[in-house]
Amino acid sequence: MCGVVGVYCSNPSITSKLVYYALFSLQHRGQESAGIAASTDKYLTYKKGMGLVTEVFDESDFSYLRGNVAVGHVRYSTTGLSKIENSQPFVVKSKAGYIAVCHNGNLVNYAELRRELENEGSVFTSDSDTEVISQLMSRFLMKKDTVESLEMLNRKLVGSYSLTMLINDTLIGYRDPLGFKPLCVGELEDGYVICSESCAIDALGGKFIKDVEPGEAVIIKNGELEFIDVSKPKRRAFCIFEYIYFARPDSVIDGVSVYEARIEMGKILSVESPVTADFVSAVPDSGITAAIGFSQHSGIPYKEALIKNRYVGRTFIMPEQSLRELSVRLKVNVIKQNVAGKRIILVDDSIVRGTTSRRIVDMLRSCGAREVHVRIGSPPIIAPCYFGIDMKTREELIAANNSVEEIRKLLNADSLAYLTLKGLLTAIKNAGGENGYCLACLTARYPVEVPGEVCELEPWEPD
Ligand code: SF4
Repeated sequence: MCGVVGVYCSNPSITSKLVYYALFSLQHRGQESAGIAASTDKYLTYKKGMGLVTEVFDESDFSYLRGNVAVGHVRYSTTGLSKIENSQPFVVKSKAGYIAVCHNGNLVNYAELRRELENEGSVFTSDSDTEVISQLMSRFLMKKDTVESLEMLNRKLVGSYSLTMLINDTLIGYRDPLGFKPLCVGELEDGYVICSESCAIDALGGKFIKDVEPGEAVIIKNGELEFIDVSKPKRRAFCIFEYIYFARPDSVIDGVSVYEARIEMGKILSVESPVTADFVSAVPDSGITAAIGFSQHSGIPYKEALIKNRYVGRTFIMPEQSLRELSVRLKVNVIKQNVAGKRIILVDDSIVRGTTSRRIVDMLRSCGAREVHVRIGSPPIIAPCYFGIDMKTREELIAANNSVEEIRKLLNADSLAYLTLKGLLTAIKNAGGENGYCLACLTARYPVEVPGEVCELEPWEPD
């Protein structure tokens, strides 16, 4: 996950503020740390800290975070621990000038690249793969121009990377050749914004221009916007989980409305795995849209059974198991009068570890629910993600180690059914999607070489 932002604004006193608001709208992508770097042709200033965007920055910061270009980041840790040293932007000063890098993704060959750089004398201050990217860029820029440096970077990196970067007073957005993570560009009244999701463009009152294509860079210098094909990839591997869980439903990613995709997932799930019940409900918030789709298509009314405390971080992205369990209890509560004596279809977007689902089924039962039928808007997650999502090992994935029936028993549900892979791809297609998705965590076939895993070089398609 992580959210990245870059803004060019003709008024240097508000550029960083615009980044701040964009980060605020991308807060769902990471809550561990936040940072902003702003630059002019003479100097670069930055601030980063642990916590939510509103916790890290206060009004006084914007008096020195000034410049026509700025980048920002909200972090959720994958490579590297949750600590200030790993927060972003990563800032490097070299003969090429200042570089600030914000990264959404994960490098599969991080350890190898780091070893190479250390052998050549580089010193690292963190254990984040983003520092490798900033060090490589600063080396390349000493010899080559921006586009050539991006080409060299592209040849070095294996994995996922949607980047926003400052190179002195130039703002750059760059998306890896498979396009794992989203990146889009919008026009503002006085400039441009590059960001992970279109909801951030909306938040700034901007107009969507386009998604950055896989292998494409967007370069903004002196207010001029230019798109450049750094590479011309023949395949794509858009992360399917953006549609299932990560992205905000009001975002449109690579031509697919996240909201519509989730409605379709719910509809198809209701056809694939029908069940008789008094009402359909959702695990808030990410299960709501699929639950509405399930209800619309099945004709079973939608009703709230659970209320979320919106001020607790998302369970899934709390990095430690002990915190995850605590946060489930803090996060949702049951509306007892809706639940007592009822047969409930409980729709969720996915099950990763099963912690949240088990707890929620227990809560519903203890409030008198007669039956709880769990329906999941995605296929079982059976394999780790190496591209920036916190699902690193098979051991932690409930569906990698248990059959659906075993999971049902573990959850204490009356029935359990997942959306099929074919159903998922049909849902995305019905919402405007084409082909070329990363499905690795659902199929265990990876779109790039990952040591010890099966590499499926062509995008997987259902029969
Ligand atoms: S493995 Fe899964 S979560 Fe990771 S990028 Fe691919 S689809 Fe997304």
